[in-house]
Amino acid sequence: MTTPTPAVDDRYPAPVPRLLPAGFRPDAWSDLEPLYRELETRALPDSVALEQWLLDRSEVDSAFAGEASRRMVAAACDTADDETEARHLDYQTVVLPEVKIVSDRLDRRYLESPHRLQLDRARWLVHDRDTELAVRLFREENVALEAKEERLCTEYGRITGAMTVEWRGRTWTLQALGKFLEENDAGLREEVWRMIWRRRLQDRERLDSLFDELLGLRGKMAANAGFANFRDYRHLEYGRFDYTPDDCLALHANVEEHVLPLHRRMLAERRRRLELDVLRPWDLSVDLEGRPPFEPFQDQAGHVAVARRLLDAVDPVFGADLVWMAERGLLDLETRPNKRPGGFMDTFEDARVPFVFANSGTTHGDVETLIHESGHAAHALLCRELEPVGYRSAPLEFSEVASMAMECMAMEHIAVAYPPAEARRAARDSFEGIVAGLPWIATVDAFQQRLYTQERTDRAARTELWREMRARFGGDVDWSGLETEQAAGWQRQLHLFEVPFYYVEYAIAQIGALQVWMRYRRDPQAAVAEYRNGLRRGGSRPLPELYAAAGIRFDPRGETLGELMTEDETAWSALLQSPRR
Ligand SMILES: [Zn+2]
Repeated sequence: MTTPTPAVDDRYPAPVPRLLPAGFRPDAWSDLEPLYRELETRALPDSVALEQWLLDRSEVDSAFAGEASRRMVAAACDTADDETEARHLDYQTVVLPEVKIVSDRLDRRYLESPHRLQLDRARWLVHDRDTELAVRLFREENVALEAKEERLCTEYGRITGAMTVEWRGRTWTLQALGKFLEENDAGLREEVWRMIWRRRLQDRERLDSLFDELLGLRGKMAANAGFANFRDYRHLEYGRFDYTPDDCLALHANVEEHVLPLHRRMLAERRRRLELDVLRPWDLSVDLEGRPPFEPFQDQAGHVAVARRLLDAVDPVFGADLVWMAERGLLDLETRPNKRPGGFMDTFEDARVPFVFANSGTTHGDVETLIHESGHAAHALLCRELEPVGYRSAPLEFSEVASMAMECMAMEHIAVAYPPAEARRAARDSFEGIVAGLPWIATVDAFQQRLYTQERTDRAARTELWREMRARFGGDVDWSGLETEQAAGWQRQLHLFEVPFYYVEYAIAQIGALQVWMRYRRDPQAAVAEYRNGLRRGGSRPLPELYAAAGIRFDPRGETLGELMTEDETAWSALLQSPRR
């Protein structure tokens, strides 16, 4: 039986505009300029007028953000189309700088308004905190540097998006080759792994030069804003009011103490089962029971169908949302050449609907990605009524709880979608993946923490630093003879190029997601209700309050990791002992 899908406009109707013509899509700065000019000059005689002004500004900002997202998505879907890329770049490098400059003037106008203090303090607390920060950090000379940075990031997407390999008579993206790393034939795995790396290393020099340029730009931006280093600047720029860089260092130490030992036990178990003397990097995805790679689906429709069954098991509304997105053309999942790597959810703020992008193979990992992005989409849909626009996205430390907790909850039901043996494998991989993921996050974050605060940042220093971090947080995997590949490992981490310091959030949020999962295992209905309760608040409250609303504790230092790892290991061990068929 299929659930009837309500008409689109009944499910998530577009907001009724107050100020702009319906369907307004700003094509150029000249469409936005008069709107922002009116906001700059409008009389604001009292607090009622001021609040209306904030909401009207939010509508104009949403129109801009919606168009910017559409162009970004179009460019991600086809990195080889010059016209699409030009339209995206035009927005990022011509329109966005204008918006930033006028936004700073509007921010100042707001902060200087004598009526501001008559507004509801609790309602506007987060907005005001963000606005004060934006004014404090804004430097007009940084606008051009940020536009240049954006260009360089697009270049990273171009270089990595063009990475394909000719093999067995056809062209493969590196993503599509991923499934061969699950093959039982160790020789085949090694061949594919080496092929992937040969291709990556071809662009090593180019990526290093690109990174040199990015480092230079970032150092300059931090200095312009009066900071000694980019790390401290970025920490504040990200609005990390509720934790410090020192908390991140404590988190690294807690990962080392509580997660790494379990990660090593899991790798030792893998080595034992595979009857190997040492684990090599291509031995990490193969099934321990010697089964062939499992492809739970073949195309986008199949991908959506599998994810939908899992989401339905958590709550039918989440499954129905995914189907609705598929019908509305709000998903682009399949891999193809000249598509950006990675996956993301972005919201078209004008219509207040989410869009999910992925560059999928056909593995269980791709199912996990879609469930993850569906968690982000659920978040966007649950808080779509909030005003102003900034309240419709939570800080990453919480928005990744939405996505990762969705993954954890859905994995509890994997047996509804997969055959028993595959379900067991997927669940075990998921518990191992969480445990492997935390030291990787610590590696990436500790690498950046040091890189942006130490004197030397040249290529040799980067390599040395990366090696040091891999030694600290790596498991027992034998990389001998593969030192070049290992040293270049950081280059495949898109975040280091495109969104520096956006990574530790994944660890903080994973800690939150594991707490949701622990609650879900004991009382699923209550856990889902609280999860929703947290998501509904979008980004309208400080992080500790968002966590509390979801029934969990905000723990940026990782003090709960010991308890969470015990639960993870218990669930993992139970799977190891379950009968094999
Ligand atoms: Zn995410």
